[in-house]
Amino acid sequence: MKTEPYLVNINDPLFSRPPLVMAGPCSAESEIQIMEVAESLSKIGIDYLRAGIWKPRTHPGNFEGIGVEGLKWLQSAQKQFGIKVATEVATAKHVEEALHHGIDLLWIGARTTVNPFAVQEIAEALSGVSIPIMVKNPVNPDIGLWVGAVKRLQNIGIKTIIACHRGFNVYQKTLLRNAPLWEIPIEFKRLMPDIPLICDPSHICGNRDSLFQISQKAMDLGYEGLILEVHPNPDLAWSDAAQQITPQNFLELLLCLKTRKPSSDDRYYNSRIQFLREEINEIDTRLMELVAARVEAARKIGLLKKENGVAFYQHNRWSEVLEHCKESAAKLNLNEHFAVELFNLLHLAALDIQGE
Ligand code: PEP
Ligand code: MN
Repeated sequence: MKTEPYLVNINDPLFSRPPLVMAGPCSAESEIQIMEVAESLSKIGIDYLRAGIWKPRTHPGNFEGIGVEGLKWLQSAQKQFGIKVATEVATAKHVEEALHHGIDLLWIGARTTVNPFAVQEIAEALSGVSIPIMVKNPVNPDIGLWVGAVKRLQNIGIKTIIACHRGFNVYQKTLLRNAPLWEIPIEFKRLMPDIPLICDPSHICGNRDSLFQISQKAMDLGYEGLILEVHPNPDLAWSDAAQQITPQNFLELLLCLKTRKPSSDDRYYNSRIQFLREEINEIDTRLMELVAARVEAARKIGLLKKENGVAFYQHNRWSEVLEHCKESAAKLNLNEHFAVELFNLLHLAALDIQGE
C-alpha cells in the first residue's frame, strides 16, 4: 500500500500539538510494515515510533511478538528516517537486547507493572541508563503499583520517567476495552506532579470509534501527550487490529484535537478565575457544613432507632431517598449517575454513624 503525501507536519509553529506524541503499530510484523509506517509518521513529525517486539498477550495462541529480529527493523527506521523508536520490555533480557540495538525509549507494559519483582528486575537492568522509561498503569486499578513502579525506577537513578494511562481491566463489560477511571491518573498526577502523564487512547478504547473523544478528554485534563496505535493497514494487523488507525486518520485526529495550556497570561482570565475559585471555595465550605448537618441528623435517627429496637437499614426509606435524589438531579440538570454515586456515599456515612 502506498502512503499518501502529508501536507501538515505537527511541528509547524502554526499547529498546536500535544507536547509528546508517540505512534506506531501495536506489533512489529515485518520490515516492510515498519519502514512504511516509519516513513509516514516521520513526515507527520512525531516524537517516537512505537512497536511491540515482545507482546505479553492475555491469551496463549495470540501473536506474541516477532522477537529480537524486529529490533533490527526499528534500527533501520531510525537510520533511514531519523525517527526515534520505542518498544516494550518485560524482562531484564529484553532490556539488554533493546539497549544493545539502540532503542531510544523503553516502556513497561500494563501486565508487567502489576509485578513488583518484574519491575525491580527491569529497574536493575536499567541501572546507569539515561534513556526515557515509560510506565503504563497496571491492568488492575491499583494506583500503589503504578506509583511503586515509578519509585523503583527513580531509586535506580532513572532521570526521565513518563507515566502512561492505558485504562484498567474491570469485570463489567462496557463499550470501551479498558475502563479509563480518570480519577486514578488524576490522583497519580497529584502524587507525582513532576512525572509527565500521557494517555494511550488505543488501549482504553479497543476500537476506532472513541479514539478522538478519549484523546480530547486527555487534552482537556492537561495530559502531556498521547500514544496511539497506527498501522499502514490496520484491518490486517496481527494484534489489536480493531483499535489501530492509518497514518492519515492519525493525522486527522491530531489536527482536530484542541490542546490546552496549563495557564494563561490574560488579565481578564486571571481575575475572573480567581473570583470563581473563591466562589467554589465558599460553596465547598457550605457543602461540608451541610454534610456534617446531615451526618448529625442521621446520628439522632440512629439513637432513636436504637432506643426503639429498630434496624438501622430501612430498604423502603433508602428507595425513597434515592427516588428523591434522582428527581432533584433531573430538575437541577445534574447527571443521574453522579447524583446516585454521591448519595450512595452519603448513605454509607449515615449507616456508619448509626452503627457506632
Ligand atoms: C501495547 O502497548 O501494545 C500493550 C500491550 O499495551 P498494554 O501494556 O497497555 O496492554
Ligand atoms: Mn496493542
